[in-house]
Amino acid sequence: MQPIETNTTPLLTSEELFERARQAALNSYSPYSGFRVGAALQLTDGSVVTGTNVENVSYGLTICAERSALVRAISQFGPQIRIQAVAVANLNDAPSPPCGACRQVLAEFILPDAPVQFPAAEGVRTMPFSALLPLAFELKLK
Ligand code: ZN
Repeated sequence: MQPIETNTTPLLTSEELFERARQAALNSYSPYSGFRVGAALQLTDGSVVTGTNVENVSYGLTICAERSALVRAISQFGPQIRIQAVAVANLNDAPSPPCGACRQVLAEFILPDAPVQFPAAEGVRTMPFSALLPLAFELKLK
């Protein structure tokens, strides 16, 4: 009997997604802080897109790993993507939940209950995105 072939990529376990984030951190460009961060996004079609932080001498132009991964995902697959899971890791053994800017940017593309894993003081913590950003900015003009 032939296995049924599908176009969908199998979903990664949370441990596998976290490991992808950790691997992405190896490419970090962080000569100013030394804080090496990676992010992995699992999209609803099963694709996994990673990103790392890229610092800049001006500091303010630095982009976080999460936004780096999101920009890459949209560039690669288009704006219709939806994120169903996120993992953030760093090579510094430091707590690193997504920053406020990344939460707001992810909000436009992520499923509300998508699990977000990140290093916390007690170890890897997982929270639904809606708990990380309960009141995202929305533009609703009257
Ligand atoms: Zn950020």
